[in-house]
Amino acid sequence: MEPSQTVEDESQPSIATVTRRIQRLSLHLIPLPPLQCSPHLDMLTCAKANKQEVDVASLSSYMRGKHREIQERIFDFFNSRPDLQTPTEISMKEHRELCLRQLLGLVREGKIKPFRYVVEDPAKYFAISEAVGSIDISLGIKFGVQYSLWGGSVLNLGTKKHRDKYFDGIDNLDYLGCFAMTELHHGSNVQGLQTVATFDPITDEFIIDTPNDGAIKWWIGNAAVHGKFATVFARLVLPTHDSKGVSDMGVHAFIVPIRDLKTHQPLPGIEINDCGHKIGLNGVDNGALRFRSVRIPRDNLLNRFGDVTRDGKYTSSLPTINKRFAATLGELVGGRVGLAHSSVGILKIAVTIAVRYSLLRQQFGPPKQPEVSILDYQSQQHKLMPMLASTYAFHFATQYLVEKYSEMKKTHDEQLVGDVHALSAGLKSYVTSFTAKSLSTCREACGGHGYAAVNRFGTLRNDHDIFQTFEGDNTVLLQQV
Ligand SMILES: Cc1cc2nc3c(=O)[nH]c(=O)nc-3n(C[C@H](O)[C@H](O)[C@H](O)COP(=O)(O)OP(=O)(O)OC[C@H]3O[C@@H](n4cnc5c(N)ncnc54)[C@H](O)[C@@H]3O)c2cc1C
Repeated sequence: MEPSQTVEDESQPSIATVTRRIQRLSLHLIPLPPLQCSPHLDMLTCAKANKQEVDVASLSSYMRGKHREIQERIFDFFNSRPDLQTPTEISMKEHRELCLRQLLGLVREGKIKPFRYVVEDPAKYFAISEAVGSIDISLGIKFGVQYSLWGGSVLNLGTKKHRDKYFDGIDNLDYLGCFAMTELHHGSNVQGLQTVATFDPITDEFIIDTPNDGAIKWWIGNAAVHGKFATVFARLVLPTHDSKGVSDMGVHAFIVPIRDLKTHQPLPGIEINDCGHKIGLNGVDNGALRFRSVRIPRDNLLNRFGDVTRDGKYTSSLPTINKRFAATLGELVGGRVGLAHSSVGILKIAVTIAVRYSLLRQQFGPPKQPEVSILDYQSQQHKLMPMLASTYAFHFATQYLVEKYSEMKKTHDEQLVGDVHALSAGLKSYVTSFTAKSLSTCREACGGHGYAAVNRFGTLRNDHDIFQTFEGDNTVLLQQV
């Protein structure tokens, strides 16, 4: 090698690379011609802008429509009852009792009776649920377990005899109840449930059994402390097989009393345990249920999609286990619609806190001049403004979903059932994932003060997190979409 020759050091960038980088950087330094935009589009800084006049009443009426009034009644009720407000520090036991008192207060003293709207006017039901959840998300979930899950399963999977017998007790909260679907070993895979309901033609009863530890009903809201009844999902087994040799007719729903109405003690054969302290939602008493040969009358089968005759024959208008299973789960889609709706409600709270605070909070500024509102920083706008726009978009999207759902409940149109299933699964997963991420962004956007428990981001974030999992895990729901 000639001494004049140089060897390229591969660890160093080449001249060409360096030149290209400098050229790129220099582009940032060359002043661009001023933007030609209409004076109306000039950005006003928040600190200097005159206060914008917004007709709050009209905007609120436009957004909340005819359900504004009932939401205001709920807020007024809780504002008038400081004893029913959730403090920042509270033990799990106290929180559960407070949550029950909040629910009883709302229904019995506030005279808000939401149960009939579950079927008659779902938009009104979801508006009530959003307002209730904004008081305390635990209360919103306990409310949903009672009316949408336990109550909704009786109305949607049962028939007239069930409505006649249970409606008033569910409505006035004498019959607090649970929705017992998930088992220790099966959550998303509902068809894998193992709890068994065997028909006994001699006594005209079903015998409910937990065949192994994996089949213990787990995470059941209202079960650990307050519930008197549960809608239990179990495989319906006939003592004799049908003409095709089948005795397992698939997963069905049964009303099972779990505690004595007077003494509140667990009934014979029912073992109840507590799922304990959770990351959030500690106002809800989630529990575990095990059944040891628990006998219930044949009438307790929620028999809208399948029934058993007195002599033990299975009847259904739907020909296959898969069709019956789809019809059963299809009726439960309301819980998912409600969850998407409530998630937007929580997003509204978080965005409102973060945007208001960002307008008022000032940091840095030109020398000898007032400091600048942090909402004037582009980075803060990038965090919050698309989120604010998305909140409005999700508000209207979930309103549309509720409209379609209400129409579906009236018409039972098959095409609409399919649309609502896909739309609710997609929106529930998209909105709840968005809200979960946004809650952290909002906390950050409020700096250290966002971390004070009193400013709510901690409870909002912890209570909302599980919205991504229950009523259908988001990943699994997106696969269904
Ligand atoms: C606070 C709380 C309250 C609840 N309340 C009730 C209640 O009142 N009644 C009730 O019946 N249940 C209730 N649940 C249970 C809840 O519905 C289940 O947790 C939920 O359905 C998910 O089931 P899993 O926990 O078994 O998760 P799994 O199904 O085990 O999922 C675990 C992970 O595996 C992934 N996964 C699963 N299947 C697939 C797949 N096919 N492809 C790719 N990934 C997959 C999921 O995305 C997830 O990340 C509650 C749960 C909690 C935590």
